[in-house]
Amino acid sequence: MTVQFSTRPEGPHLRGIAIDAKPSGDGVVAQHLIGGIWEDGGSGRFLRIDSPATGERLGHVPMGTASDIDRAVAAAEDARDGLVAMGTFARAALCMDMAAAIDAAADELAPLLSLEQGKPLAEARAEVGGAALGFRNAAEQIKWLETGVIPVADPAKRAHSFLQPKGVFGIITPWNFPLGLPCMYYLGPALATGNAVVWVPAPSTSLVAYRLAQLLVGAGMPEGALNLVTGDGAEVGDATVVHPGVHAIGFTGSTATGMTIARRGAGKPLLLELGGNGPTVVLEDADVELAAARVAAGAFGNAGQICTATERVLVHQSLHDRFVELLARAAGEVRLGHPLEPGTTMGPLNNAASFDKMLSHMDDARARGAQVLAGGGTAQGLPTNLYFQPTIVTGLDADSLLNREESFGPVVPVLTFADEAEALRLAATSPYGLSAAVFTRSITAAYRLTEKLRAGIVNINEMSSYWEPHVPAGGASGTQSGLGRTGGRHTLMEMCDLKTMVVDIAV
Ligand code: NAD
Repeated sequence: MTVQFSTRPEGPHLRGIAIDAKPSGDGVVAQHLIGGIWEDGGSGRFLRIDSPATGERLGHVPMGTASDIDRAVAAAEDARDGLVAMGTFARAALCMDMAAAIDAAADELAPLLSLEQGKPLAEARAEVGGAALGFRNAAEQIKWLETGVIPVADPAKRAHSFLQPKGVFGIITPWNFPLGLPCMYYLGPALATGNAVVWVPAPSTSLVAYRLAQLLVGAGMPEGALNLVTGDGAEVGDATVVHPGVHAIGFTGSTATGMTIARRGAGKPLLLELGGNGPTVVLEDADVELAAARVAAGAFGNAGQICTATERVLVHQSLHDRFVELLARAAGEVRLGHPLEPGTTMGPLNNAASFDKMLSHMDDARARGAQVLAGGGTAQGLPTNLYFQPTIVTGLDADSLLNREESFGPVVPVLTFADEAEALRLAATSPYGLSAAVFTRSITAAYRLTEKLRAGIVNINEMSSYWEPHVPAGGASGTQSGLGRTGGRHTLMEMCDLKTMVVDIAV
């Protein structure tokens, strides 16, 4: 029997997810992980996870409550001293074991990730590799992360600083990279630095999070070092953010939720990786073939559901016609289909809320006079109604939602400019500042634009979403894309307090 509960408003991220009184039918039945014990929690409610690709039931996850979070925080607190006592090198070795366990399970994790998230198998495999790399990078970098001896005025004093874990980290993650992102941004760095974690994954991709947690426990994750509580982010995520026993928050997700977390978690250290709407600027001297190919890859990879995806292109007016012709050809080569079928290069969007946002952005663009050169809506003849066609829009008004807001789907809106000043003006018409790209043959133009564009990372002659996990990334100040930096040692530093010790050697 399926019972629909309607006791409280649910966030958009729960749209399309049924809530059952108990798991039924085939599929995995996941549990919370609290203090090393697997359990259902006390709510008596379960989220039903259906595949966006096929509609089939993949399984159920328990819908956690604030009291589950209370116990998870207590378990994390209990694990802290043990993690610190292990020492840095032992924790680094443990991170390597986690990486090996993820790599060894790639053949099982990747198809589950494809079915639950929607991405093609090749992209899922790459993401599993990224998850392992997240632990491996953290292991390597923590071992050589030196802090300084500080010269002081008093000749009798010696001062130095060292890193201490912040304590219990609340980690809340999105569904677009539900394996790679948690491992690279947070779980690897947390274990390496000795922080204990309470992890709330995105509801629609909770099964893969559960399977990951099982693997990590199997690889020797100490009891309480990682606690997993699934459910509605507005309930368990919020309970984590406001919990007095949670010392710091790592959140990746939308700007709207990030702003709520910044208010609810005020006073706590916050590492916030939020939305993006990165402009790609194609200057007059660009290699237009290269630009079109990389824009297509940056826009259609993961069906555009990447915070740094190529969300809008500003192209010099002299290149416009040739650029959109090449781009249309690239869009025509996208093979939209079942993510596990060989040859598929783009799968469905992950959820109905994302799909509807794309439709509303397209309606807005059409109403403002834009032309849809390719795609523009639902693909027919596929197993669910979540497949969005690869889309190209030209003649876009700068006030359009496609230009100003994050669309998070496979769409390339193209705008034109006459000179660099106009390109920079257009680039600044969106409040986001996560990533950008510039195509040019001029090194001086590359530097000029990189310094002027509001973005945490600017790729030159590469798609806006190019990133390697040890490279610092995050929102530019003054934008709505976040706070702090993830990437390699930068995350390790964000997860630690710098403690200073001063010794008087004259006494
Ligand atoms: P979302 O904000 O809807 O949800 C993110 C997480 O927050 C989910 O786990 C959700 O359950 C939880 N949540 C929801 N309400 C909450 C609340 N009130 N308190 C605490 N937690 C709550 O985002 P999403 O749709 O899952 O993810 C897509 C977004 O993530 C996009 O905006 C994308 O740009 C962003 N993103 C950013 C980066 C980056 O590095 N900057 C990377 C990936 C994704």
